[in-house]
Amino acid sequence: MKRGTVVLDAGHGGTEKIGGSSPNNATSPSGVKEKDVTLDLVRKTRDALRKLATDGKHEVHIFLTRDDDTNLGLSDRARLARQTDADLFLSIHCNASDAHNARGVETLIRPREHDNPNYDDDLALATTIQKAVFTAVQNRDPKTRDRRVKDQRLGVLNDAFLAKKTKACLVEVEFIDRADVDALLNTGPNATAVRTEIAEALAGALLASLGEG
Ligand SMILES: [Zn+2]
Repeated sequence: MKRGTVVLDAGHGGTEKIGGSSPNNATSPSGVKEKDVTLDLVRKTRDALRKLATDGKHEVHIFLTRDDDTNLGLSDRARLARQTDADLFLSIHCNASDAHNARGVETLIRPREHDNPNYDDDLALATTIQKAVFTAVQNRDPKTRDRRVKDQRLGVLNDAFLAKKTKACLVEVEFIDRADVDALLNTGPNATAVRTEIAEALAGALLASLGEG
């Protein structure tokens, strides 16, 4: 059986900037906010991971940095991983670009040279997460792109606030500032199903990244 603790972090939230975390970043053409998509994806991922754990008789403890429309500082989000002695920390975001012309899924980890002592562990988690989400999106829309795992110096992934053992990454689930992605994830007839499939893919990747208990 698998055993472990997972922290899920829905990017952004609320109405004010707090501790380096903006209330919202990307907004879709139809007006759907990133902060609401991330919260929904986190809840769906929690539910899918609970079901996987129950069905497979695994012992998985799941914590959410937020379960409502509030904002938390970046270090406070990471600190929940230390407080819960988490094995895995996954922050979920949606992307946007200045020209509104980018597509794809990418996963970010803190660079080795910026105080990331467990870079290789983070890279292994991020690679699994990236493959899962990209495959789930690609199944519904072949126009997506695999933007791969990238290094980025993100406060929410700072090992100074995580537990020593925590593997951490941040997934950017597509660019919601595009009309085609807006339909795919928010307004189209299959939007709820697509979100659920992404969440199930995330849950599977998280469970696979936990150790045997
Ligand atoms: Zn974001």
